[in-house]
Amino acid sequence: MTLFGGVEAGGTKFVCIIASKPDDIRAETRFPTTTPAETLGRVIDFFQRNSRRYPISALGISCFGPVDLDTSSPTYGYITTTPKPGWAQTDILHRLSDALKTPAILDTDVNGAALGEYRWGAGQGADPCLYLTIGTGIGGGGIVNGKPIHGLVHPEMGHMRLPHDWQADPFPGWCPYHGDCFEGLAAGPALEKRWGRRGETLPKDHPAWELEARYIALAVSNLVVAFSPRKIILGGGVMANQQLFTRVREEVVRLLNGYVQSPAILEHVDEYIVPPGLGARSGVLGAIALAEQLVLRE
Ligand code: ZN
Repeated sequence: MTLFGGVEAGGTKFVCIIASKPDDIRAETRFPTTTPAETLGRVIDFFQRNSRRYPISALGISCFGPVDLDTSSPTYGYITTTPKPGWAQTDILHRLSDALKTPAILDTDVNGAALGEYRWGAGQGADPCLYLTIGTGIGGGGIVNGKPIHGLVHPEMGHMRLPHDWQADPFPGWCPYHGDCFEGLAAGPALEKRWGRRGETLPKDHPAWELEARYIALAVSNLVVAFSPRKIILGGGVMANQQLFTRVREEVVRLLNGYVQSPAILEHVDEYIVPPGLGARSGVLGAIALAEQLVLRE
């Protein structure tokens, strides 16, 4: 069995695994994100310690961003303008690839998660497939023709602009760039700032959830008409509140108003807008799927 290395590089924690597929994880570790030198040092140490027993053919990295994915760019494989102290302009791809002497590939955390779900999770057979994470921040990734979507940079679905009814919701949003973009209105910190308490402490019947479902549904319906995805997967801490799924599905159907004539939406929306099939492992298994694609391509 060909083994791959997977790294989920998050703003608060890193997860590293050695695996060939979800039910064949040979080694795993996780640790908090500190400085680049210390954190990447721990990644390198984990794979080196396991290299004799579990040699890997390639390394995949699902990384917090923004990241440079343009292979012709001098800063390809870098984390670019992150506000995270010490991490701006960090060449994560080559640092790991050189130290471990293995081919490596990098993508955004959400593209990684989308690929993981497409390969082994809730997105199997669904192309295009979109993955949104709604937690501390909001990000979106997608698979089109079997590959993660890149482009000018990479999708930033969390920053799409949504209609904002200031009377119903006077909260101005907290995105430092846009104020009331999707992330500014609906990420975990927006819940906390708007209602004065953390989302997970709000009762199930609190009006916060109706508003939250409304914003998520607005974003999802925009994505439906923009990408025509065959599956939309919603992950992240805010979506751990399972009752949100019912509200979001109902609101998406209502917003689309019969325009998108597909049984997937009109009859089976509960199988169309779904939680991740890989649970909290979409990102790190997506990194394994990235490495697998790299090897197959060569
Ligand atoms: Zn924004």
